[in-house]
Amino acid sequence: MATYKLLLLPGDGIGPEVMAGVQTVLAALAETGLAHFETEADLVGGSAIDAHGKPLSNATLAKADAADAILLGAVGGPKWNGVAYEIRPEAGLLRLRKDLGLFANLRPAICYPALADASALKRELVEGLDIMIVRELTGGVYFGEPKEITTLPDGSKRAVDTQVYTTAEIERIAHVAFDLAGKRSGRVASAEKHNVMKSGVLWKEVVTAVHARHYAGIELEHVLADNCAMQLVRRPKQFDVLVTDNLFGDVLSDVAAMLTGSLGMLPSASLGAVDARGTRKALYEPVHGSAPDIAGQDKANPIAMIGSLAMCLRYSFGLGEAADLVDGAITAALAGGARTADIAGDGSKVLGTRAMAETIAAEL
Ligand code: ATP
Ligand code: MG
Repeated sequence: MATYKLLLLPGDGIGPEVMAGVQTVLAALAETGLAHFETEADLVGGSAIDAHGKPLSNATLAKADAADAILLGAVGGPKWNGVAYEIRPEAGLLRLRKDLGLFANLRPAICYPALADASALKRELVEGLDIMIVRELTGGVYFGEPKEITTLPDGSKRAVDTQVYTTAEIERIAHVAFDLAGKRSGRVASAEKHNVMKSGVLWKEVVTAVHARHYAGIELEHVLADNCAMQLVRRPKQFDVLVTDNLFGDVLSDVAAMLTGSLGMLPSASLGAVDARGTRKALYEPVHGSAPDIAGQDKANPIAMIGSLAMCLRYSFGLGEAADLVDGAITAALAGGARTADIAGDGSKVLGTRAMAETIAAEL
């Protein structure tokens, strides 16, 4: 049995609590004999600032580079609100994504049958919902230059952000989306705003070209990002794979999040390019943040983090059977009535973070 090297970066706030849930599940997984992992933990974000004044040390970055995959909890919190912009906790995560070339952010939004009533929408609109949002993660307005605030002669200010996309950047994210669609229902929707943005014009053109050249069997639909937001709320099940840029992806995946019940349910994968050995850099993390309001209280839902582990097994290691086992254990725990506070309905018994992770591990 192969041994995989996993770097665990629990981070801040509820990060360490949900990461402990992953370790509970990893221990149960080792007993099944399907997979064995060597884990090492390190600091990132605020906890790293406290330890060595920087949210991501070069030593941690080197470990991340050497690992087979990285699992990350969450970074940030009010404790570090005062630190300089360049060394804020989030800067550590942005650098990790950028330096490892993690350009493809996969965010599945799945509505578990047991939770259909926890959705922001009516049950019939979300029951069976299974969308994969593919967000470009290392380009666009997050990184484009110039990016600045300047003072004008009259003393008022002027702020500039720049959205930049190249053909190569759009091509590689389009390939990720079409490849995924080939393993799913075979439909891709691409969201941009070509009516007002040049980067949208290029986005549409390149996605169309990649589709025509390589993916005849896949259905492609172009949708304006604002209309896409509306459609996600109006009739979400029309979407299967949804590919979009960095900023629209941030917004649209938060919309999709509310269809599934709770931020605490949503896993994500951030993938790099496939290298000559057929492997790729990858980081897996929950979509939610460090949730300082509930940190340290054993209240956080660990499912987004444990679901991120399942994505890791599937996408980094090809361990589909083990991934199905973890996903199945989550579904079974929910079907059995296990609920953390964020997804508890009236009258359901509320479990803490630890008890939820143990229930999932027991199902496994
Ligand atoms: P970030 O800027 O890091 O994305 P955020 O401001 O979007 O963070 P989160 O930390 O994700 O905020 O928290 C948003 C809300 O969702 C909070 O009220 C938090 O308690 C809740 N929340 C987030 N994650 C979980 C979780 N795993 N379990 C339960 N509640 C959660
Ligand atoms: Mg957020």
